[in-house]
Amino acid sequence: MSTESGLLDELIEALRCLPGVGAKSAQRMALHLLQRDRNGGRFLGQRLIEAMDRVQHCRLCRNFTENALCRYCADEARDTSELCVVESPADLLAVERAARYRGRYFLLLGTLSPLDGVGPAALGLDLLDERLAGGEVTSLTLALNSTVEGQATARYIAELAAKHDVTVYQIARGLPMGGELEFADSGTLSVAFAQRTPLAEG
Ligand code: ZN
Repeated sequence: MSTESGLLDELIEALRCLPGVGAKSAQRMALHLLQRDRNGGRFLGQRLIEAMDRVQHCRLCRNFTENALCRYCADEARDTSELCVVESPADLLAVERAARYRGRYFLLLGTLSPLDGVGPAALGLDLLDERLAGGEVTSLTLALNSTVEGQATARYIAELAAKHDVTVYQIARGLPMGGELEFADSGTLSVAFAQRTPLAEG
């Protein structure tokens, strides 16, 4: 359906790039901004452009940051011999909230999904390989979601780590199957982290 304004049509179409936003929701959002919140719309547009232009990946862990290193990699008080692999920035924050973990992180920003064309390179596993080859990391904790893809990815990384004689731990399976780490309550995640079990001895 076309409106009277080509620009409005383009805005509606553009909003559909957001996950879960179909034609109807996109139209509602666009009309809301035009009718009720033009300043909010301008603010959103500027923030989007700034974030898209300036937020990059931390060169060590792939976390999102405006700097070369994210705050966790730049924090010299954190233990560089321990690495925790998570799927997303939301999962990193969940671990930070729940666990007394003071090592470094590595973010996959996804899981292996060959059918969708997501292979090891898309998850930065070459970068992880290099990091482990560097020899500083001696213990790696997998804090991935207990989905089929999360667990397949965990197995792949465990094999990678074994090549470099790094001891691999997996957080305890206190989490519900298919459970998303970021939605686990802090108590459950805290216990899961404390009861992590070795997958492979380095
Ligand atoms: Zn980092």
